Amino acid sequence: MTQSLFISDLHLSEDTPHIEQGLVTFLEQEGDIDRLFLLGDIFEAWIGDDDDSPLALRFADAMKRVADAGTQIYFTRGNRDFLIGQIYLNQFGAKLLGDSECMEVAGESTLLMHGDLLCSDDVDYLAFRVIAHNPEWQAEMLSKSLEERRALAKQLRTMSKEAASNKAEDIMDVNDDTVRSVMAEHDVKRLIHGHTHRPYRHPMLSAERIVLGDWNRTGWCLRERGRSLELREFSL
Ligand code: MN
Repeated sequence: MTQSLFISDLHLSEDTPHIEQGLVTFLEQEGDIDRLFLLGDIFEAWIGDDDDSPLALRFADAMKRVADAGTQIYFTRGNRDFLIGQIYLNQFGAKLLGDSECMEVAGESTLLMHGDLLCSDDVDYLAFRVIAHNPEWQAEMLSKSLEERRALAKQLRTMSKEAASNKAEDIMDVNDDTVRSVMAEHDVKRLIHGHTHRPYRHPMLSAERIVLGDWNRTGWCLRERGRSLELREFSL
């Protein structure tokens, strides 16, 4: 019986020691699991795999313990940690997944995404995303010093928060047509994603969309046990 955990949107930074501790405790309590899926925005910001911040080192250590216990870790990039790469993930043997990746979950081919691509009404963000995913833009970014990148990441975060506070609620949620077309394109009856911070299991016509929750005062996870799936909130 395959046992997996799906989590996303921890938004870890040096300001969130309780979430970091909550993650360690949560993983200890969950015990033996085969697969751990980190579906993006695990970090509030990611400035490059050469980041030597204490947080990057602590997280790698924690994940290495999980991996050493026999868990395969998978990572999907979020809109905050989109610069994360295989070099960092190699420290704990994690596999980097693409933006849309199909995996067998609870006996069914399942599409895994961070979720930002589903929010297709947010045209400003999607325009920024095209730029930020351009290899030349990324190479230029990564050529800057860690100091410069830390300053830029801080600036981007402030801009993103200001933009979000000016956007209508429905723009920040998924577009149903986009969800249907993405699921049809990948020929799946189940989609798991995070990003919107609206945890819920949405039944669809003979299909389902499962939204993970963000970690703040509480944590959220989706647990696979063989053929069963449970979306759960817990205290941190
Ligand atoms: Mn996100």
